[in-house]
Amino acid sequence: MEYINPWHSAQKQLDDAARFLKLPEEIHKKLREPDKIHRAKLEIKLDSGKTATFDAFRVQYNSARGPCKGGIRFHPHETEDVVKALSAWMTWKTAVVDLPFGGGKGGVVCNPKEMSKKEIEQICRAYIRAFYKIIGSNTDIPAPDVNTSSREMAWMLDEYEKIMGQHDPAILTGKPLELGGSEGREAATGLGAVYCIREAAKHLKLDTKNLTAAIQGFGNVGKFTAKHLSELLNVKVIAISDSSGGVYSEKGIDIESAIEHKNRTKTLSGMPNTKSITNEALLELAVDILVPSALENQITAKNADKLKCKILAEAANGPTTPDADDIINKKNIFLIPDFLCNAGGVSVSYLEWVQNRSGHYLTESQVFKRLDKIMTKAFNAVLQFHIGNKIPMRLAAYVLAVKKVADAMTARGWV
Ligand code: NAD
Repeated sequence: MEYINPWHSAQKQLDDAARFLKLPEEIHKKLREPDKIHRAKLEIKLDSGKTATFDAFRVQYNSARGPCKGGIRFHPHETEDVVKALSAWMTWKTAVVDLPFGGGKGGVVCNPKEMSKKEIEQICRAYIRAFYKIIGSNTDIPAPDVNTSSREMAWMLDEYEKIMGQHDPAILTGKPLELGGSEGREAATGLGAVYCIREAAKHLKLDTKNLTAAIQGFGNVGKFTAKHLSELLNVKVIAISDSSGGVYSEKGIDIESAIEHKNRTKTLSGMPNTKSITNEALLELAVDILVPSALENQITAKNADKLKCKILAEAANGPTTPDADDIINKKNIFLIPDFLCNAGGVSVSYLEWVQNRSGHYLTESQVFKRLDKIMTKAFNAVLQFHIGNKIPMRLAAYVLAVKKVADAMTARGWV
């Protein structure tokens, strides 16, 4: 199968926005490339006693609006280009929800599924030893992403504070509560996507309790999207999946039981009262809401025409390729573009950073209220721009976000 490079997709999306905005060439050119790319080789001692080396990256895309912000992904197929694309999307994400951050991203080419806890901890600590000079609460603030969680953030924070000889919890977010994490951070990305879906349903005059959903990916984002879709909006979730395949039930899947089954067996397959379904078939199901929440390039020119959903809520980063976008627009599917749909995580990361710097901590319900306000405001700004200018939702989100970044660069005299 032809590989679609997410970095090329990200650049093409920016070009469309630049054309709409008639962005001066100088700004457009600067925004097409990251400000800085940092590379390292992480050397660790495996449990076998052998030494192994892993490629690692930190890309700082743009910091005109504030310190770079973005997660660290551990994945065997991670590439520099994927990290570049993700760092660009972080730049537009923090801008579209109006957080005082720029965009960045990190990655390590490794397969944590084949590594022991001790080996993963060594990777985390080695990552910080490689990059501690370029991260910081006023420069670049990492967070979790695919295959990393609060556990990895705790090891990274500990390594950083050991090197610096002082506490500094605001240097990264997504930490465990005991180390200055925020209430509600774990659920935030999924919940933010659910707030967007609620607003989209209002706009389309759909009653969510009559709607069905299918969710691809059952990690941090997929799990909490499924849980809140069913608990908050009474949506019937009929299919969920992870990297080893999915499960389907016409009557609806009980999400708490699915989480319990996955925690116990490490997979969704074999869940009682469900039939198995492939990841490809899940995307093509006749559901009202489709939520890709796994990886990039899941909806391409090959399968876009087979989508049957009314709302496509991109909880993952880059799940849809530009070619597929054209097809989706023609099919009149209502799209909630990725960097808007999944901005809930970075929004609560922002609240975590604020709490760390002020020493004043919020309750979960305070966090969720603030999150709802941020997501609802951003969603409706994009929706109004989409309606007012008769342009696709993705382009509307891009235009609003790119303009904010370009204005900050201009105000600073960078261009
Ligand atoms: P995760 O590692 O917690 O979960 C990823 C899930 O996707 C797992 O269930 C995995 O089995 C599944 N998966 C992997 N490959 C798959 C495939 N080919 N088909 C189907 N399922 C597959 O990661 P996450 O944090 O939930 O991130 C998921 C997506 O959301 C990524 O695109 C990430 O960049 C994006 N995102 C995450 C956050 C966050 O706060 N964690 C914030 C914004 C965006």
